[in-house]
Amino acid sequence: MLLINCPHCGPRAQAEFGFERPVETILPVDASTATMVERLYTRTNARGVSAELWRHSHGCRAWLRIDRHVVTHEILCVALWVALWQAPQ
Ligand SMILES: [Zn+2]
Repeated sequence: MLLINCPHCGPRAQAEFGFERPVETILPVDASTATMVERLYTRTNARGVSAELWRHSHGCRAWLRIDRHVVTHEILCVALWVALWQAPQ
């Protein structure tokens, strides 16, 4: 089980959080069909660090960006999503 350091609540068990999606799958509202297909259906699922959107659903309910290594599950960064909001390019 992961221990996630919520910026509001401090270290909490993964069970308090809900995984939403990889950040790269969040699309701008004016994205083309080709961009949508590429981002949603042709991702490589590569090893390494993944930027992910999580929610502290059983805590402060904040949306968080968590940079997590998908093989080791090491968490490299946790930040409030609202402070970082911008559609990926
Ligand atoms: Zn929290």
